[in-house]
Amino acid sequence: MEIIPNVHLVPNTVANPYLLIDPDGLTLIDAGLPGSHRKILRYLASLGFAPVDLKRILITHADFDHVGGLAPLKKASGARVYASPVEARAIAEGHASRPLKPRSVVARLLFDLMARSFNPATVQVDELLSDGQILPVLGGLRVVETPGHTPGHISLFAPSAQILFCGDSIVSGEAGLRVSSGANNWNQAKSDESARKQAALGARILCSGHGPVVMDAAGKFPQV
Ligand SMILES: [Zn+2]
Repeated sequence: MEIIPNVHLVPNTVANPYLLIDPDGLTLIDAGLPGSHRKILRYLASLGFAPVDLKRILITHADFDHVGGLAPLKKASGARVYASPVEARAIAEGHASRPLKPRSVVARLLFDLMARSFNPATVQVDELLSDGQILPVLGGLRVVETPGHTPGHISLFAPSAQILFCGDSIVSGEAGLRVSSGANNWNQAKSDESARKQAALGARILCSGHGPVVMDAAGKFPQV
């Protein structure tokens, strides 16, 4: 689904992967659940691209619904993989970058079951990202450190299109935008601080890891 020219959401995956098109090739932000690589490669093909056209895969954080398709995508495309140092270590070791905090025995059993069912293959990250770094994507894609949901979570901001890819730091839902919170949130104070930093960027379009894309995001960021 085209969001704006050269920016697409790969539809019908559990966590949203975004595809960015530049003259020198394609960049993917996040890789979906294990198995999502098939949908992502089919979507590329529907736009007339081959797997080898995918040059970069940027990972916002190491949760299984964002890195599940990473290993087969890297294998099929030869793309270089980018993440923050903290998330890169977790991706290389095949687990999340922070412990979950289930509030009940049932929730703990559910988390354990999910971890076993969706355990993604390990991947060696090629390039480590840091705050303020500019990637040669969409005329300059800025890395914004947004810790809170996980310790090494990053967002990506393209000033040319005023579009912010926020991973799971801000969740888009029926009731609007909310800051990451609850059992899978690493540090609430950091999440709130990151949300304030994101609101100040002046993004016009917000692309979250879950829920619908928000086209008129200015003024809708969570007040924390
Ligand atoms: Zn997450």
